[in-house]
Amino acid sequence: MRNDELIALDRAHVWHPYGPMPGRTDPLVVESASGVRLRLAEPSEGRAELIDGMSSWWSAIHGYNHPVLNEAVSDQLGRMSHVMFGGLTHEPAVRLAARLVEITPEPLRHVFLSDSGSVSVEVAVKMCLQYWRSLGRPEKQRLFTWRGGYHGDTWQPMSVCDPDGGMHELWTGVLQPQVFVDAPPAAYEESYAELLRTEIGKHAHELAAVIVEPVVQGAGGMRFHDAEYLRVLREACDAHDVLLVFDEIATGFGRTGTLFAADRVGVSPDVMCLGKALTGGYLSMAATLCTSRVADGISRGEVPVLAHGPTFMGNPLASAVACASIDLLLSQDWQVEVKRIEAGLREGLAPAAELPGVREVRVLGAIGVVQLDHPVDMAAATRAAVREGVWVRPFRDLIYTMPPYVTDDEDLARICAAVCAAAAAG
Ligand SMILES: *Cc1c(COP(=O)(O)O)cnc(C)c1O
Repeated sequence: MRNDELIALDRAHVWHPYGPMPGRTDPLVVESASGVRLRLAEPSEGRAELIDGMSSWWSAIHGYNHPVLNEAVSDQLGRMSHVMFGGLTHEPAVRLAARLVEITPEPLRHVFLSDSGSVSVEVAVKMCLQYWRSLGRPEKQRLFTWRGGYHGDTWQPMSVCDPDGGMHELWTGVLQPQVFVDAPPAAYEESYAELLRTEIGKHAHELAAVIVEPVVQGAGGMRFHDAEYLRVLREACDAHDVLLVFDEIATGFGRTGTLFAADRVGVSPDVMCLGKALTGGYLSMAATLCTSRVADGISRGEVPVLAHGPTFMGNPLASAVACASIDLLLSQDWQVEVKRIEAGLREGLAPAAELPGVREVRVLGAIGVVQLDHPVDMAAATRAAVREGVWVRPFRDLIYTMPPYVTDDEDLARICAAVCAAAAAG
């Protein structure tokens, strides 16, 4: 198909994320991707290839077209690409579940596989609400969280997204009203810890669970906070009989410098969501893990089953590539790579702090953020980055990057230069 034909059809029929219909700006057409490079069907701003600064939204941690991951998929393809999961099972899914239990914090023992992060959060919420119902406490059905979060776009996850960024006003009367406190400060403050304790205590009678993204709030604002708050949440939840859910869909698999963000303080949740980098960016898959306490609670109830079962649950292709991606990650010195990228981002993004209109530059693990004091001019910022040969996707007042772990120093420097150029232009 010719590029202009493709764009015209895209405009006419295809809905893109968070977009109007028809779209206001033409997307770039990607023809193929390999390593950390996206190859465009037609050059843009004189560039036929872009260095990927986004890992396709946190997921492609090993880069694209990776021989090991390709082999895992084609190997599995020759056996079966899919089979239903009701009454049947298979080695890829079983191996994946066992592996996830092995690498996540100790009391997490049971794994529910689903097809996307949002669904894994739906499942997590269903588990928590059903746990309390089974224990004869159906009034415990609200969720507690802090502002600035993001947990997905289906209804339950949306209800715990940041009320402003998550468009709660548009959905007043439709969204479940949850309990919110202010977003966590970056550094540990005893007064904020006290606020968490007090509010959890005050609402405990109606709370099924506390749900947060540990250490890094992603799509809700790219904010970082002291991991000590996780310990505060764990203690408050234990003291007041509330379950604790960690959404590690963005932070999982090494992105923040530890395998899981909560590993930083050794705090374990009752329920944990994983997604995004789970399959190395190859296929859509997510997982909800829970402890035996949660599973046993549900199984002792009047309805002793978890009534959830996506058609593509445990998909063999996705499971096989997820196993391969985890093995690939853990077979190398990934901490060294993430530290190297962290140092490169710190150095390369520092000049952005001097630019007019820049509020803050922050880096944690393989995540670099430039926050402006005004909404980003998306078109101008994107153009500026593409001119530098780099793909980034700013939003709100944020230009940010979380490159694949395989990005070398030279490409990393170019990503940083492009983020600075985008900040200057946007
Ligand atoms: C992306 C994300 C989700 C939603 O995952 P999808 O696969 O897009 O449905 C949920 N929580 C967090 C923290 C995320 O970053």
